[in-house]
Amino acid sequence: MDFQVGVIAGDGIGPEIVAEARKVLDCVGSKFGHVFRYTEILMGGCSIDATGVPLTDEAIAAAKASDAVLMGSIGGNTSTSPWYKLAPELRPEAGLLKLRKELNLFANLRPAYLYEELKAACPLREDIIGEGFDMMIMRELTGGLYFGARKTEQVDGVTVATDTLTYSENEIRRIAKRGFDIAMKRRKKVTSVDKANVLDSSRLWRKIVEEVAADYPQVAYEHMLVDNCAMQLVKDPKQFDVILTENMFGDILSDEASMVTGSIGMLASASLNDTKFGLYEPSGGSAPDIAGKGIANPIATILSAAMMLRYSFDLDKEADAVEAAVRAVLKQGFRTIDIMPQAGETRDGIVQVGTAQMGDKICENI
Ligand code: NAD
Repeated sequence: MDFQVGVIAGDGIGPEIVAEARKVLDCVGSKFGHVFRYTEILMGGCSIDATGVPLTDEAIAAAKASDAVLMGSIGGNTSTSPWYKLAPELRPEAGLLKLRKELNLFANLRPAYLYEELKAACPLREDIIGEGFDMMIMRELTGGLYFGARKTEQVDGVTVATDTLTYSENEIRRIAKRGFDIAMKRRKKVTSVDKANVLDSSRLWRKIVEEVAADYPQVAYEHMLVDNCAMQLVKDPKQFDVILTENMFGDILSDEASMVTGSIGMLASASLNDTKFGLYEPSGGSAPDIAGKGIANPIATILSAAMMLRYSFDLDKEADAVEAAVRAVLKQGFRTIDIMPQAGETRDGIVQVGTAQMGDKICENI
């Protein structure tokens, strides 16, 4: 099949890591008989330099015309880059926020997977880690507290700040369906996280999730209060498959879950709308401190491309092949600098490689 992929290489290490993800996609294409065609899209600091704004209307149109978008990262050094002397709406990040809104990307997916070979980077005890864990945090991205009405005012001479947490049943239903669909492609378990003992929005969340769950009899589901979930993530992360939650809870829990996996260079992410379309990007930033050195870890971006194969193109076999190749490369001992053993750990059989070499090794294993 033919797929049109919009590519936002972006700033810093973005172009280096995206080049490796494209290399891997092309390798998948030749092995499985698909053609991936790429449209380069400018966004972030590079767009500011070229056009004066972080995202042009042409760039938005190009993204919308694609089957999915693969992104590196945007932004520069926030203390020294001239981009950060601009007004907030003209800075690199404004481009990404605008793109997410334009594309209606309401479902954010962040997998947290612990590789056997990188267990030492996990801050949890060996007996807690056990055979490792593999979960997917599904966070609602366009509603809730971050988008509700807010104000700061004087009341009887005292400053009072108010934020509002609003969810409609439609917003909850569409993310819940996405969560259960994703669970069907995984181990068929959903943990819906809320604060239903306190919040009305959470009680509605629970009611709608139960309605959606009725349409997925093969998926086991449970409700969990967010404070308990925060504890369970460090007490017994193996219990989770898909964690389905609202915007703010997901923001916090996804960072907690990624922290327990170790390296930022390994963490993929996807943001989806209600069609097959998605924006796929590594969880890390543009890492200006290592940009241009050829040492950045491309695995998070390569795994984001694998998510694109799975969730936008329904190419599960191909996505499995990429994920298996990443595991194989780690098993063979190849590491970029960020996932090299720490002081005191054995380096036997470990070979440090650069960004492009890591991409090559993954292709060899596909
Ligand atoms: P960062 O994630 O870019 O870097 C934090 C640390 O992690 C750095 O030491 C960096 O070298 C390392 N790192 C990150 N990705 C890596 C990789 N693939 N391989 C090896 N090491 C890696 O976070 P920051 O320094 O706070 O932000 C830098 C810029 O990135 C800022 O402009 C920020 O706004 C932007 N940012 C962009 C996105 C995005 O594009 N979605 C996300 C987060 C931050």
